Amino acid sequence: MTGFSQPDVVIIGGGMAGAGLAAHLAPHRRVTLIEREAACGLHTTGRAVAMFTPSHGAAAGRSLAKASRAFFEAPPTGFDGPLLRPRPTLHIARPAQRPALSDLAARLPGGIELTAAETRRLAPILRPDIAGLLEPDAGDLDVRRLHRRWLDEAQEHGAEIRLCIGDYAIERSRGLWRLQGEGWSLAAPVMVDAAGAWADVVAAAAGLTPLRLEPRQRTLALIDPPPVAGFGDWPIVKDVDDRFHFRPFAGKLLIAPADEEPSPPCDAEADPLDIACALMRFQAVSDYEIEDIRHQWAGLRTFAPDGLPVIGWSGEASGFFWFAGLGGMGVQTAPAAAQLAAALLLERPVPRALLDHGLAPAALGPSRFAAASLERAALS
Ligand SMILES: Cc1cc2nc3c(=O)[nH]c(=O)nc-3n(C[C@H](O)[C@H](O)[C@H](O)COP(=O)(O)OP(=O)(O)OC[C@H]3O[C@@H](n4cnc5c(N)ncnc54)[C@H](O)[C@@H]3O)c2cc1C
Repeated sequence: MTGFSQPDVVIIGGGMAGAGLAAHLAPHRRVTLIEREAACGLHTTGRAVAMFTPSHGAAAGRSLAKASRAFFEAPPTGFDGPLLRPRPTLHIARPAQRPALSDLAARLPGGIELTAAETRRLAPILRPDIAGLLEPDAGDLDVRRLHRRWLDEAQEHGAEIRLCIGDYAIERSRGLWRLQGEGWSLAAPVMVDAAGAWADVVAAAAGLTPLRLEPRQRTLALIDPPPVAGFGDWPIVKDVDDRFHFRPFAGKLLIAPADEEPSPPCDAEADPLDIACALMRFQAVSDYEIEDIRHQWAGLRTFAPDGLPVIGWSGEASGFFWFAGLGGMGVQTAPAAAQLAAALLLERPVPRALLDHGLAPAALGPSRFAAASLERAALS
């Protein structure tokens, strides 16, 4: 890559966050998206097998997911049809976990409590003493189609996407963020940090205080499916204490241990211990004997200290915008999150539909951490 460019906005990172934002901003601003890898989406986004579970996470995250639903069901022309395929989530509990299932039932509007026999009818490999709670309005999301289309859409509106950018320095001078790599440079008044697991590293390179974002590893394994008719239509089966889940995926049975081991930002690799743990938890609820792992992989989900996304202007450095900490909800919240980020960046009102779903944008802004640390300092 060579040359100098001067866009209005530079977005760092071409995962779901960067791609969605580029697509929303490009009709209104000159956008350059820079991605360190040879392709966009090689890290977290490319490793996700995304479910739409609107009951997942804290209130502000649930609002973003609910506000995204209409987009997934009926995306604009160009996305090639719906991105959400209905697939209920079946929350399951062993006898000792029944109180947790009752708690969840009380919190889950529209949840349907099932007997053990009804539960086993939905996923016939479950042991006969497993009870279930069905969350009907969940589904599978088409991550690749969403991500790819947003990148294309951004480019159709004139955004520039630069790959393989190598190492570079960042500094702020004379009202511009200046990025200088080998044989290239660019300068923009606004820089968006959408670098996923590396978001704190980018912020530190720009001279900001990191937000203490924590990447955590999540592992997935594929095994041969049980030879049972209707397997492809099974629900997502999720342990009520969120210790593992399994589901049909690409003709195989996907098992996830729900591991959350903190990790430095890196090219994550599946850990055999996590896989063994997933299989053990699976066997505790199922009488299906696993013979072989066909494929395994891992990705990093990056969390802010309060588990919520960080979307908003930095209070510390002008022109620096955070779009990070999307944790385990960066796909199911992607349309609403991109709309919110674009509205804040373009200094336009937050779309009514987001507010109607109970979203309070300040709950996601980075300033919430500054306020918390001031409070801690005052108390000490
Ligand atoms: C196994 C797994 C299962 C998941 N399941 C779900 C689910 O069911 N539902 C759901 O909603 N979400 C799920 N997620 C979470 C979701 O995938 C993430 O929240 C989302 O993809 C994060 O997108 P991102 O753009 O923030 O990060 P990324 O996709 O990691 O993108 C960040 C990009 O920034 C680039 N980058 C880093 N540093 C630099 C730099 N200095 N310069 C230029 N580029 C840089 C990286 O190369 C990377 O491409 C899952 C994730 C995993 C791993």
